[in-house]
Amino acid sequence: MKNAIEKLPTKSEHASRFKIPQVISEVQGQKTLIKNFSEIAQNLRRDESHLAKYFSKELAAPGNIQNGILFLQKKVTHEILQKKLEAYIKEFVFCKVCGEPDTHLEKVERILQMRCDACGARSPTRQI
Ligand SMILES: [Zn+2]
Repeated sequence: MKNAIEKLPTKSEHASRFKIPQVISEVQGQKTLIKNFSEIAQNLRRDESHLAKYFSKELAAPGNIQNGILFLQKKVTHEILQKKLEAYIKEFVFCKVCGEPDTHLEKVERILQMRCDACGARSPTRQI
């Protein structure tokens, strides 16, 4: 999977191949499960803990990961989860300069920055 992504020949092809993952969620009692949580994090090449923290903060709900599933201690609709995921991608995945999704997060002097693999730009990210 990773190799396939790195071997993509041109920027435009790459951009068009990036698809926003769809959240698969289920409400169980007072909890909400994101069933494909690990898959989403892998797809975005982001730490599960970073993405989980984002959902927890944004939804004001404690969350924990078990067997690749994120459990949130709150009832949340699929629409809200999907919107939050898209906001996360916009903020923490797409390069602020060139708009490519080929970025990674790195800590520089304890501050998390987004580094673009396509254009090399560094952008500061919000602390979550
Ligand atoms: Zn860039």
